[in-house]
Amino acid sequence: MNDLDVLNAELIEYKRKNAELELRVEELTDFVENASIPLHWVDENGVIIWANQAELDALGFLYEEYVGQPIGNFHADAAVIDDILTRLINNETLHNYPAKLKAKDESIRHVLISSNVLWKDGKFVHTRCFTKDVTDLKKEEQRKNDFVAMVSHELRTPLTTLTSIVQILKRRNNKEKDDFTIDALTRAELQAKKMAKMLNDFLSQAKYEEGKILLHKVKFNLAALITEVAADAQFMAREGVEFAIKCEEIYVYADRDKIGQVLTNLISNAIKYSPKGAVITIQCEEAQHKAVVSIIDLGMGINPEDQPRLFERFYRVINENLPVVQGFGIGLYLVSEILRYHHSEINVVSAEGKGSTFYFSLDVVSDCSTVN
Ligand code: ADP
Repeated sequence: MNDLDVLNAELIEYKRKNAELELRVEELTDFVENASIPLHWVDENGVIIWANQAELDALGFLYEEYVGQPIGNFHADAAVIDDILTRLINNETLHNYPAKLKAKDESIRHVLISSNVLWKDGKFVHTRCFTKDVTDLKKEEQRKNDFVAMVSHELRTPLTTLTSIVQILKRRNNKEKDDFTIDALTRAELQAKKMAKMLNDFLSQAKYEEGKILLHKVKFNLAALITEVAADAQFMAREGVEFAIKCEEIYVYADRDKIGQVLTNLISNAIKYSPKGAVITIQCEEAQHKAVVSIIDLGMGINPEDQPRLFERFYRVINENLPVVQGFGIGLYLVSEILRYHHSEINVVSAEGKGSTFYFSLDVVSDCSTVN
């Protein structure tokens, strides 16, 4: 074989590889263009530079109506798209980021966006975004929420009447000192209170899910609220619990009822997930203009894998070795939502078999200050 033959052979091989590569590119292009998953690319200025047919079909636009437009034009919430672009530019990969897109017929599509940036030699080329339409799922969830809210609402009125009757009977019996009847009525009152708490939690979670929450902030003494909630919890647990309350007198500016709901949920969990007769410590102290509240139990604790998911709606820890405790997995979701509305958050430190501490903080106002 002379030099020319070698060169010729190399050229043939080069052409073969090139043709193979072109075929691959064609196959891949065909694949993404016709994929059933909606896809679009966005440049660093937030302009859509490409979209596949599934994306156009999902929103009802023609290619020329969509591509070339700022992606922000199609988002229902400007803050969301700003956040998405900032995260992507900071090299974050997004998985199932919830967003709302505006379709051509002006309907709102609920989507989950997964996206990252294609970088080349340290330069931003474009983002690659996959969107998953979850509008139907959202509607189904909405129907369930509405149903639960309606049922809870309807059950509350007869339950309030029932509780009042039980309380009147209890007062009358207190005079007659019939221990059996008083005990039976106390139990009935206790069960009615438990039911009322469940219904309240159901109603609240539906409202938080829809973002229909208004805070009624007032200045109040946190220590007094903690004492009130603990007394109620003591009644609910009867003799099954002992409280150690270590609380400074601290004034905060917050929604008293909703912070009461936070405390009720955290304290009732501490009771539920501790052995009978256990000591539960409630602490509140002032640190750097914050009131830090901790609810400490020495109960079953929570393993590290479950801890990040505790605050999801309906999340419950499943452990076959642990006793079954009644609940719906709503309490901690509500706690985290209420605190989020107060620009605060719930934290947990826990070790399995040793116990858990749930803590949060609120802004402090001085005793004599006025709040607007
Ligand atoms: P529920 O108690 O109704 O299931 P929550 O949302 O209040 O719902 O709590 C979610 C899960 O977190 C519970 O199912 C339980 O497994 C765990 N958990 C909450 N508080 C505690 C605690 N103090 N100790 C141990 N586990 C807890």
